[in-house]
Amino acid sequence: MLTKRGNGLSRRDFIRIAGGTLATLGLSGALTPKLARALEKAAAGRPKVVWIHFASDTGCTESFIKSDHPSAGELVLDILSVDYHESIMAAAGKQADEVLAKAVAGKDYICVVEGGIPTVPGHGMIGGREMLDIAKEVCGNAKAVVAIGSCAVDGGVPAAKPNPSGIKGVGDALGMTVVNLPCCPVNPEWLVGTVVYVLTMGKLPELDKKGRPLMFYGRKIHDNCPRRTHYDGGRFVEQFGSKEEAAGYCLYKMGCKGPEAWSECPKTRWNSKESWCIEIGSPCLGCSENNWTDHFGPFYGKLADIALPYGDVTADKIGIGLAVVTGAAIAGHAVLKAVKGKGEDEKK
Ligand code: SF4
Repeated sequence: MLTKRGNGLSRRDFIRIAGGTLATLGLSGALTPKLARALEKAAAGRPKVVWIHFASDTGCTESFIKSDHPSAGELVLDILSVDYHESIMAAAGKQADEVLAKAVAGKDYICVVEGGIPTVPGHGMIGGREMLDIAKEVCGNAKAVVAIGSCAVDGGVPAAKPNPSGIKGVGDALGMTVVNLPCCPVNPEWLVGTVVYVLTMGKLPELDKKGRPLMFYGRKIHDNCPRRTHYDGGRFVEQFGSKEEAAGYCLYKMGCKGPEAWSECPKTRWNSKESWCIEIGSPCLGCSENNWTDHFGPFYGKLADIALPYGDVTADKIGIGLAVVTGAAIAGHAVLKAVKGKGEDEKK
């Protein structure tokens, strides 16, 4: 019999959530019952989460509340105990400070950080306290820290040069190891997938050198891009509004940073899997990488020579190469036609 559990979710709910999460994690659907049981067990304890905001535009919270598998409502109300989240909790002012102090004293929570940390005194204050001091206390007492979005990972847009507030990512500002989930904003399914992984496996997922879970940042966008055949074939958009753009050609020459950006955007997609940047015609801006606003600017500037897997050839050279091959083919065809014509003339 399907019954509602104490936390408000039924067995069927957990199976549905597990199925959606496995798809996000890229794992077989055959594991659904196992994951559902593990998730149900973990949720029975309602693991505590403290979600703190620093220098950001709260875009990652907006992104998170659009998550589907499970929904943000299920995650916040039924699976986790989100004890503190400035944007969605009812408490404010002194009452909110008391809630945070009580949560931190327990030292038994996962800390989610949204936003970069100003390190210049007086440049980032909440309730009269330096953001840096709040971060030291809240992150220092957590069982694990997850930095979500580019701002929390490396300062993001607020840390673009000249960065007068000395804004840094959480790991850098506090000198501690954290799980980094970059992108601007974070993909909600990667955050939910990371949380579910930790809850069900009891450990952190495998991370790359930059602290990013390999399951979400293990491949380059370029390697999974649906426009890749156009790149390999030397077919590029050179102007917005052109017939090449309408044909869906590669956006490399319009500034696409996909060849240097590591993330599963092509697979996970965005807005309930509706679409993603390159699919709607925007070059990838490379927001999964550190210091992306300065490193990859200008946004529509072409990446310097990109080596291709089959040789040290650039996209420009491919275009030229194809032109030469095509020219040679046309010339060859013309010679063949001339020879054939000559033969036919001789026959006549
Ligand atoms: Fe896709 Fe960009 Fe690579 Fe072109 S350069 S194939 S648009 S990721």
